[in-house]
Amino acid sequence: MGLPVVLMPGRMNPVVAEGLDGKVELIRLWEAADPDAVLAERRDDIVAVATGGTRIDGAFLDKLPAVRIVAGFGVGYDQIDAAAAAERGVVVTNTPGVLDDEVADTALGLLLMTVRELPQAERYLRAGKWRDGPYPLTKATLHGRRMGILGLGRIGQAIADRVAPFGVSVGYHNRHRKDVEYHYYPSLLEMARGVDILMIVVPGGGDTRRLIDAEVLEALGPDGILINVARGTVVDEPALADALRDGTILAAGLDVFEDEPNVHPGLLDVPNAVLLPHVGSATIPTRNAMGNLVVENLLSWFSYGLPVTPVPESADLVKPRD
Ligand code: NDP
Repeated sequence: MGLPVVLMPGRMNPVVAEGLDGKVELIRLWEAADPDAVLAERRDDIVAVATGGTRIDGAFLDKLPAVRIVAGFGVGYDQIDAAAAAERGVVVTNTPGVLDDEVADTALGLLLMTVRELPQAERYLRAGKWRDGPYPLTKATLHGRRMGILGLGRIGQAIADRVAPFGVSVGYHNRHRKDVEYHYYPSLLEMARGVDILMIVVPGGGDTRRLIDAEVLEALGPDGILINVARGTVVDEPALADALRDGTILAAGLDVFEDEPNVHPGLLDVPNAVLLPHVGSATIPTRNAMGNLVVENLLSWFSYGLPVTPVPESADLVKPRD
């Protein structure tokens, strides 16, 4: 029997190809002169897909009837229609856990940058303005603030652990209450009223689309700070730009945007937004760990029929092979 054939639709971290080398036949679709011809020619051979950001939906999977697993790079898998995959008997995997600390560190850095206006202060120095006088005192301090975490999951918990030593109190809103010490808000709006930092760490996708709208921003209030390390789709960006411009909230720190790499012009225009180019997990060690987990998922699937980290939508499909 030949090696299993794995399709890689777009470029991925090189550790994925290195880890699969010699164990699978890898089709690098983005290198093909005519990708559609490759898909048509190999449609009955390709049994797995390894993907970093390509949209994989039902229509895509219908072109590849032999595929049984889609191994995604990243814990967020909103680019993969896991429900459509499950309907077709296709398992989806992601890379949870190995990036929690990195993303939580980024969230904390972004929070401090935003509260204390550190990027603005650095730009002030580089522009030579320090000679004219000190950078203005910031309105906000981190001390004594109350943080509401929207999405107290793996990364949310790592963020909660980190803010405790800063003297920041924590509450959270999930759809389900957890057995944790933090105050639970059954409603997001109620949480926005009760805190002055809103930390967004929920998954993207249809269920969370624009959860942060004008009403939630109004509830957060004029001392409020919004930090988003989740997905840009969770926030109504035009409403956020308005809220930052007119002082409905104090400031925002954003690592993610709805139409990456394009950033809503209203967010680029306001001085009280700190903007990062989706670097939450972007270190070499963490990205390598994520790539290795993609490889482990595929190799474990080929050997035992058991992926390491299937997404919840695939739960019914995951059972050991006879
Ligand atoms: P988890 O699945 O561990 O946690 C997600 C949490 O969100 C759960 O506690 C869940 O609780 C809650 N949640 C889900 N849907 C809703 C909803 N509709 N309303 C309220 N709460 C909801 O995920 P992770 O912590 O591992 O990752 C979270 C997200 O962070 C990823 O999906 C990804 O999009 C983003 N991320 C961003 C990165 C970056 O580079 N900026 C890097 C890595 C991840 P419940 O089910 O009870 O609602």
